[in-house]
Amino acid sequence: MQPHNVNYGLVGYPVLMAADIALYKGEVVPVGEDQLPHLELTREIVRRFNSTYGYVFPEPQAKLTSFPSVLGLDGLQKMSKSYNNYIEIAAQAEEILSRVMTAVTDPARRYRSDPGHPDICNIFGLHKFFTPLRVEEIASECRTAGIGCVDCKKMLAQGISSTLEPFRERRATLASRPDYVDEVLADGAKRAEAIARETLKEVKDKMGLLQLKS
Ligand code: SF4
Repeated sequence: MQPHNVNYGLVGYPVLMAADIALYKGEVVPVGEDQLPHLELTREIVRRFNSTYGYVFPEPQAKLTSFPSVLGLDGLQKMSKSYNNYIEIAAQAEEILSRVMTAVTDPARRYRSDPGHPDICNIFGLHKFFTPLRVEEIASECRTAGIGCVDCKKMLAQGISSTLEPFRERRATLASRPDYVDEVLADGAKRAEAIARETLKEVKDKMGLLQLKS
């Protein structure tokens, strides 16, 4: 994808992800479609380890959702903070609306009176997630120029906002309880550390590495 920028990160990053999965003996990993090659590398690494030193790691399986890939507002790349084509889960309704208004639509629909092509429109793709009950109506209105892109985007923004509302509320509740959040994080870290320590010990035993007493 970036032939002029082939660097260590291309292998280092997926290996780091593999370590994060294998360290806790992950069996099922919730991922997006774009992460499948990384997971395959993890599976390859654990298979190689198991066959060389003896079984330690389960081969993790991917868990895709019914929407394994979401296109960003630019209509070009996956939705991601890194590409600045995303909608923040905690965003308020006005912010969602202003972000959605910048989104790319059917490039062939230049005027309000032009019929649209929902199948190639990014906004329509997002309607499938956020206003699933109205997609057929939107597709038909778009094809007959019965609805304009501005109104279509407003409808989408409303759908996104109401879908995200429970998450916003939950987030606000947690944000008002920082001590509780710290406690949960510390507890999780403690439990994860115990599992990691145990796995590392097992790995070193299998590999015959010297374990110094701490
Ligand atoms: S009306 Fe909606 S689905 Fe049709 S081109 Fe405009 S934004 Fe896309």
